[in-house]
Amino acid sequence: MRYTKKDILEMVEEEDVEFVRLQFTDLFGNMKNVAITASHLKKALDNKVMFDGSSAEGFVRVEESDMYLYPDYGTFATFPWRPQQGKVARLICDVYRPDGTCYEGDPRYILKKVVSEAAALGYTFNVGPECEFFLYHVDDDGMPTTITHEQAGYFDMGPLDFGENARRDMVLTLEDMGFEVESSHHENAPAQHEIDFKYDEALQTADNISTFKLVVKTIAKRHGLHATFMPKPKNGVDGSGMHINMSLSRDGRNIFQDSHDPNGLSQEAYYFLGGILKHIKGMTLILNPLVNSYKRLMPGYEAPTHIAWSGRNRTPLIRIPATRGEETRIELRSPDPACNPYLALAICLAAGLDGIKNKIVPPDAMEGNMHLLTPKELEERGIESLPKNLQEAVEEFEKDPLMKEVLGEEVCGKYSMAKKKEWEDYNATVSQWEIDSYLLRI
Ligand code: ADP
Ligand code: MG
Ligand code: MG
Ligand code: MG
Ligand code: MG
Repeated sequence: MRYTKKDILEMVEEEDVEFVRLQFTDLFGNMKNVAITASHLKKALDNKVMFDGSSAEGFVRVEESDMYLYPDYGTFATFPWRPQQGKVARLICDVYRPDGTCYEGDPRYILKKVVSEAAALGYTFNVGPECEFFLYHVDDDGMPTTITHEQAGYFDMGPLDFGENARRDMVLTLEDMGFEVESSHHENAPAQHEIDFKYDEALQTADNISTFKLVVKTIAKRHGLHATFMPKPKNGVDGSGMHINMSLSRDGRNIFQDSHDPNGLSQEAYYFLGGILKHIKGMTLILNPLVNSYKRLMPGYEAPTHIAWSGRNRTPLIRIPATRGEETRIELRSPDPACNPYLALAICLAAGLDGIKNKIVPPDAMEGNMHLLTPKELEERGIESLPKNLQEAVEEFEKDPLMKEVLGEEVCGKYSMAKKKEWEDYNATVSQWEIDSYLLRI
């Protein structure tokens, strides 16, 4: 939507909006907001609302902490779950310094920068995510558990699917907020769900992913459930991924398609694929940002473990879905919904563009079920593995110069440091597995 300042002020007046939330995202993808009353909206629309940047994770130091929120007028939307009188609306904001320059640590700015590089080459980056999540019970104190009594599986329906009503409400709420929901279904694991919405330009999609998570969590809560995007909340069943479907268009036409090619892909699509495969190890820290992310990326659970692509089957890291024409796309299957969507899309685009600019030819496609190959066969075919844990991911991230180019030296440093600390904290903690394995026997 293209709104002007006047449009927004009028909508707020007409729709009886009482509060407006100014939202932004910290370095680790957490949505933050400050609420203002409608009477202060004009000031906010004039970019005069300030916050303490040193309190947001991964942002500035205390000495230079004043930051300004510049609302993106196009993101104005009301929350359908709030009261109809005295409504609540939101505006997603960019973060600026007091001197009126963009703050380079703002994830939205980082994505915008890569998007404008692509635009200079004539490309629009289109992205469609597939976000999976679990719905669990809360305990008597209102705290989340991993308890579910549900036993439904892939594509099951009610009465087996206990989450059906909550999911329907989520879809309707998303539609109220302007999403075009394409499909929703019960996933493989008990209490696991997926809702897919239509692809859009990268910045819009990143905003949509943030909004999507908020809606899913909010509506789950109204149903007395806890929605989690944690990548692997439970042993022995699939984790939650967020496949990222990507294509480039020029003048409104998908340029990844070429009907003369056996895979239906253009030369640019192959180079883009080559770029992603070249950089995937370094990108993994952003796409799979938690200690827990690597427990999803294990053999046997429909998540990729090795670096390969395929025209057909669903086991490798990258799949080329069978649809052609405007829906021709590359599907990256490793990301999980804990990633910061702005940073994730920024590095995917940057890696793809690197492939196009440097004509990076991808290796041959890998057909057949990858999970059936032995370590020796993988080695013979030169198929490398993704980073196996957060520490390996940090090492690969620091090795890849493209990451610094996209995120900037300072953001990279902050990100690495936080992730190293996370890994150290994890390693220093005695886990339930250790207690179960050793306490009795040793
Ligand atoms: P899967 O077959 O992997 O389960 P889904 O049907 O669940 O795939 O999701 C496909 C996603 O890809 C949707 O978000 C859809 O809008 C998106 N998509 C379709 N065409 C394109 C395209 N040209 N570029 C990017 N994303 C696309
Ligand atoms: Mg899907
Ligand atoms: Mg599908
Ligand atoms: Mg799925
Ligand atoms: Mg998929």
